[in-house]
Amino acid sequence: MAACIFCKIVKGEIPSFKLFESDKVLAFLDIQPLSKGHALVIPKQHGEKLVDIGDDALAEILPVVKKLAAASGAENYNVLQNNGRLAHQEVGHVHFHMIPKPNATEGLG
Ligand code: 5GP
Ligand code: ZN
Repeated sequence: MAACIFCKIVKGEIPSFKLFESDKVLAFLDIQPLSKGHALVIPKQHGEKLVDIGDDALAEILPVVKKLAAASGAENYNVLQNNGRLAHQEVGHVHFHMIPKPNATEGLG
């Protein structure tokens, strides 16, 4: 979709810090991270809500989340998908947040 910001990221028309890419899925850092390593995993094909996305692309998302967590060393993290405006979805292209929790020892001492 021409006006969609995440479609523009997929096409390289807007810069992003890419973390993973396959035929169906792209992962990149969130521009306003809630914690260090906050990533977004999206199907490359445009769709606003989960119901608009094929099961084949959706099936790739959680394995990518696991890979990102392993690569970044995140042991504790939240996976979040806001599905629809009333559920606080701001960007109308399906995306899953992977939000690492800092390790309990970080920032102590
Ligand atoms: P939502 O509330 O829709 O689940 O979250 C949208 C997320 O997309 C937000 O965390 C926001 O920071 C992120 N975001 C919005 N625009 C851009 C952008 O142009 N680049 C990147 N990397 N992230 C974006
Ligand atoms: Zn899109």
